[in-house]
Amino acid sequence: MNDFSRRGMLRATAAAGVGAVVVPGTLAAGAPVASAAMECEHCPCPPAELTGRIVRPRDPGYADASLGWDELFTHFPLVIVFAQNTQDVVNALKWARQNDVALRVRSGRHSLEGWSNVDNGIVIDISELKSVEIDAAARITTVGAGLSQLEAVTALAKQNFAVTTGTEGTVGLSGATLGGGFGFLTRWLGMACDSLVEAEVVVAAGAECAKVVKASLAHNSDLLWALRGAGNGNFGIVTSLTYKVAPLNSVTYVQATWEGIGDLHGVFDAWQRTAPVTDNRLGTQLEVHKNQILLFGVLAEGTPDEAKGLLAPILSVGNPTVTVQVGNWGEVYSGFQIPTENEPANWKFFSQFTRKPFPKEAIGVIASFMQNAPTDDSNFFTQAFGGAVRRRPDGGTAFPHRDALFYSEPGAGWGKRGSQPGVCDPLTPQAQAWIAEFSQAMRPYVSGAYVNVPNIGMQDWETAYWRSNFDRLREIKTKYDPRNVFQYEQSITPA
Ligand SMILES: Cc1cc2nc3c(=O)[nH]c(=O)nc-3n(C[C@H](O)[C@H](O)[C@H](O)COP(=O)(O)OP(=O)(O)OC[C@H]3O[C@@H](n4cnc5c(N)ncnc54)[C@H](O)[C@@H]3O)c2cc1C
Repeated sequence: MNDFSRRGMLRATAAAGVGAVVVPGTLAAGAPVASAAMECEHCPCPPAELTGRIVRPRDPGYADASLGWDELFTHFPLVIVFAQNTQDVVNALKWARQNDVALRVRSGRHSLEGWSNVDNGIVIDISELKSVEIDAAARITTVGAGLSQLEAVTALAKQNFAVTTGTEGTVGLSGATLGGGFGFLTRWLGMACDSLVEAEVVVAAGAECAKVVKASLAHNSDLLWALRGAGNGNFGIVTSLTYKVAPLNSVTYVQATWEGIGDLHGVFDAWQRTAPVTDNRLGTQLEVHKNQILLFGVLAEGTPDEAKGLLAPILSVGNPTVTVQVGNWGEVYSGFQIPTENEPANWKFFSQFTRKPFPKEAIGVIASFMQNAPTDDSNFFTQAFGGAVRRRPDGGTAFPHRDALFYSEPGAGWGKRGSQPGVCDPLTPQAQAWIAEFSQAMRPYVSGAYVNVPNIGMQDWETAYWRSNFDRLREIKTKYDPRNVFQYEQSITPA
C-alpha cells in the first residue's frame, strides 16, 4: 500500500516527536516605520549596499540557494540575499531599484510556477527571519515572515495555540497566508489570512527608494485587506506577521484508505454532501490516486468516537482501513510530514473551486483520468470548505471564494529529486499533457482558481483568483507600488 498521500505530503498515521526547532533569530523589526502616505518623490536616497547573507553565482552554495521545491523550474539569479533583519530587506529593495535589476521575493520556495526566482535578477529571501513572540494573554503572535508552516505550528502548539496553515510543513507561512491559506483547521478557524491582524511590509518609495510600513486595521487597512489573499509578490515584502491565535489542546486525526478506486462514486458523493456542512471542528481532505482513495480528517478538540460518528456516512462506503490518532496538534502535524527528498521532483497542479456538488459525470471524469495517471504520486486532491470560511474577518479579505463547497486540484508529480532538470525528464510531456487535459475536462464543473496554486493556462486569471475584488486590488497596487516594482508573470498591475 502506498502510505504517501497528496503531493507526497501526508503520511499514514503515526505519532512522531515534534520535528522542528524554531530558532529565536533576529527580530523582524528594526527599521523605522513610515506611513504609506509619505511617498517621497525627490527625497535623497543614498546608494544602497547589499547586506545580509549574500550568495552569488560563483559561491559554493549557489546551486542549493537557487533551487526551488518544484524542480520543474530552474533559474539563475544574479544574487540571492538572505535577509537577517528588516534593514537588509530595505537595502536589497533599494539596491535592486537603483541598479535596475529585476527582483523576486522568496520565503518557503514552494511557488508552483517557480515565480519566486528570476534569471539575472535579485532574489530577496526572507526565510531566515525566524523570530516568534507569543502573547498568551492577548492570544496574539508576531512571527518573522521566514517561518515554515511546520515551524509555526510547532511553536504555537507548544503553548497549546494554533492558527490555520496548509498541510505541507515546508511551505512558507508567508507564502501560504498571503494567498489565503487553507488546511485542516480552515472550517474551524477560517482561512490563514483571516487571522492575520498586522504585517510589517517593505514597500517601494519614490523613484529609487524603499521604506517600511505597517498594515493593520488602524494603519493602512487597505493594504492589510490586500495582503489577506493577494499579498504574494504584489505590493511589497512582508517581514513580519501578527496573527490572532486560538487555543487548541488536542485533535483527533483520522485516516481511511480504500484500496483501488472502485468505490470512488460512493465515497466522493458521501464526502461532498457531508464534509462541507458537518461540525465546523472537522476538516477533511479526500485524495484520489491511481490505485487507492485516501481520506484525512482532523477534529479539533474532539474524541475518536465523535470523529468516526461525523465521518460515518463516508466510512460506511465499502471497506476502508481506518486509523485514528489523538494528540497535540504539533505532534500530529509533524507526524504526517514527508521529508522533501522522498517527494517527486517535478509537480504541476491546476486549482479550482466547486459551488455545487459534482454530478456523477464529473466523478466519472476523475475516475477515468486517475486510472491513466502518469505516476502513483499523481492525484486528485480536495479540501472541504464551509464552516468558518463563510465568515469574513473584520476589515474583510481579498480572498473571495467563501461560498465554495470545496477546493480541488488535479496534480501530477514525477521524477527523482536531484537527478536531472525537469524539462529533460522523459515523463514530462506525458505528465504535462495529462494535467492539461484533466483540468480542461473538469472545467464544466468548477469555477475560480486559487492564487497560491496558479493556473497559467487561464486567460481570465485575475477574476478567477479574486473575482470582483480585482478592481480594488489594482487601486491599492497604484497606491503602494505605482511604478510596478513588484511584478511577475501573473502580478497585479497598477490601475
Ligand atoms: C506541496 C504543496 C502543498 C501545498 N499545500 C497547500 C495547502 O494545504 N493549503 C494551501 O493553502 N496552500 C497549499 N499550497 C500552496 C502554497 O500555499 C503556495 O505554494 C505558497 O505560495 C508557497 O509559499 P512559499 O513561501 O513556500 O513559496 P515561495 O516560492 O517562497 O513564495 C510563493 C509566492 O509568495 C511570494 N512571497 C513569499 N514570501 C513573501 C513575503 N514575505 N512577502 C511578499 N511576498 C512573498 C513569492 O514572491 C511568490 O510569489 C501547497 C503547495 C505545495 C507545493
